[in-house]
Amino acid sequence: MLSVVIPVYNEEDGLAALFDRLYPALDALGLRYEVIFINDGSRDRSPGILAEQFKRRPDVTRVILFNGNFGQHRAILAGFAHCRGERIVTLDADLQNPPEDIATLLAKMDEGHDYVGSIRRMRQDAAWRRWASKAMNGLRAKLTRINITDQGCMLRAYSRDIVSLINQCGEMNTFIPALAYQFARNPAEVVVGHEERFAGESKYSLYSLIRLNFDLVTSFSVVPLQWFSLLGMAISAGAGLLVLLLLGRRLIIGPEEGGLFTLFAIAFFLIGLALFGIGLIGEYVGRIYSEVRQRPRYVISTVLEQRE
Ligand code: UDP
Ligand code: MG
Repeated sequence: MLSVVIPVYNEEDGLAALFDRLYPALDALGLRYEVIFINDGSRDRSPGILAEQFKRRPDVTRVILFNGNFGQHRAILAGFAHCRGERIVTLDADLQNPPEDIATLLAKMDEGHDYVGSIRRMRQDAAWRRWASKAMNGLRAKLTRINITDQGCMLRAYSRDIVSLINQCGEMNTFIPALAYQFARNPAEVVVGHEERFAGESKYSLYSLIRLNFDLVTSFSVVPLQWFSLLGMAISAGAGLLVLLLLGRRLIIGPEEGGLFTLFAIAFFLIGLALFGIGLIGEYVGRIYSEVRQRPRYVISTVLEQRE
């Protein structure tokens, strides 16, 4: 059985088109399947549209309604916790990835891979986002041991084992493709299509993209903290040498004059460094804080599904 997990946040204009393409594509696979929509606290007509779709195809549709906006990755976690399939596919609701490509992912899984990632062919997004993604992909490759070519593409397939492992993780802020990659025995990637958003606009602002990437880096690596300690050590050593040099100069040549702006430059450099370090530690401390509180990651108000 196949489970398709789709997070939905304010997608009223695109949902009808999604249903029109998704269900025929899944019917064509000739497999038993279920589609799980998670409404991530939409403030538009999305919950109503999903409920209608549930009435239309109750045998294969399940709907989880959150009572607030908890973010795409937590929505997917809720889908993972509720899905019943042996293979699980995540898909965005905006039709940027064609639902027909699910067949490609499943074919790759049949070759024995437990995790199939995806790379967007001719990505159709704003230029600044493509550049930022490139930079983040490079940074992530350096900081973590996660080898994903295109971390932003959510059309991915997971085996039941991986999803069970993810379900055992209690972390608040996470990044599903990276988490899955860590658990995968035999990951693979395929190239999938990418189109412009069918309707509506991206739900990620620059700010939420930055937050998401902090989640990715800090959840999977403590390297930034270690770099910071190393940098601190190097700078202290350099400063010690400078002191020795000035001392020698004072004894041999005599007192130095001026040097005010050099002092400013050094002071500002160190202040900047210290502030960045504090901020970085703050990122980790903030995450420790939210982990230890062990609050529920999301709150479900309703689940629409048929009893087994
Ligand atoms: N989404 C969500 N909660 C959020 C933001 C987004 O469930 O807080 C869903 C959204 O409805 C879509 C998917 O996550 O199905 C990807 O969002 P979007 O297409 O806006 O991201 P982009 O393609 O611009 O990266
Ligand atoms: Mg999108």
